[in-house]
Amino acid sequence: MKTRIKLFLGCLAAAALATSVFSCKGKSTSTDNNADTVATAKPVGPKFNPDSAYAFTAAQCAFGPRVMNSEAHEKCGQWIAGKFRQYGCTVQEQKADLKGYDGTTLKSTNIIAQFNPEAQQRVLVCAHWDSRPWADNDPDSANHRKPVMAANDGASGVAVMLEIARQLQADSTLNIGVDFVCFDAEDWGLPQWETGYQDTGDTWALGAHYYAENFPTAVKPMFGILLDMVGGEGAQFYREGMSKQFAPDVVSRVWSAAQAAGFGSYFPESDGGMVTDDHVPVNQKAGIPTIDIIPYYPDCQASSFGPVWHTVNDTMEHIDKTTLQAVGQTVIQVLFS
Ligand SMILES: [Zn+2]
Repeated sequence: MKTRIKLFLGCLAAAALATSVFSCKGKSTSTDNNADTVATAKPVGPKFNPDSAYAFTAAQCAFGPRVMNSEAHEKCGQWIAGKFRQYGCTVQEQKADLKGYDGTTLKSTNIIAQFNPEAQQRVLVCAHWDSRPWADNDPDSANHRKPVMAANDGASGVAVMLEIARQLQADSTLNIGVDFVCFDAEDWGLPQWETGYQDTGDTWALGAHYYAENFPTAVKPMFGILLDMVGGEGAQFYREGMSKQFAPDVVSRVWSAAQAAGFGSYFPESDGGMVTDDHVPVNQKAGIPTIDIIPYYPDCQASSFGPVWHTVNDTMEHIDKTTLQAVGQTVIQVLFS
């Protein structure tokens, strides 16, 4: 991602103005210090393993930045598809030549992994798997044309999906089906340094647009959950505006599930602005009510998506296992409720 229309500009603390870009770590998000959350928590379903999700994030980064048309991208895509197959999913690869804002032909592959492919009641869980080619929000302009490792902005969402798929294979009590969809070509959107083009917002989420326009599976999921940047340190997931507009019931369901899973402190009952992301075409073109779990850092000067967003510092060092766990256990709670 992307573009955030800031509806709620957080007040920048005076201290934050004076300190470095890494100062905006967000609020304390320990589950242990929230007695109310713990007291009312009623977790259901298998236990999400944060170490495993962390390892899945690192494994993607080990290929290098998964920039469109690169060898690292190709190899990582094969690895992701293989892992979903290993966990018992039926995998199809939806390939397309898509056109980037600059006319580049992008060899795009949406990876669609179905758990319980025969089930008629299905839930969509999705994330993008490509890396941004340009660190155009980096504080150092010398880095603006370098690729983003995308440990958080890409790999984290896929890692959470892989760990859920692994848990579902081991558990075998879930009767509904899950469509895990890894969207490609999300992050080739118009760079900030590009002045010859107008940003109309439609240069992003190209794989998700293609999926929604060329719906590849027989049964349409009842609703969907998009995971974007779900492993950052200090992350909190405020209710995103497009999600509230298109899928208010799903927002309620997911935020309640976070409470019940014991991770309510990561999901404040507050609004975080509107984001142009993969869930928009899925709502508008595929008609699947879909929400976006995406962080909001109200006090972060570098970006409301957090300090390392679209910088060369979006690396494993800034991935927090407990953030991955908060999101993964919440999604499991939704699936098993
Ligand atoms: Zn991005």
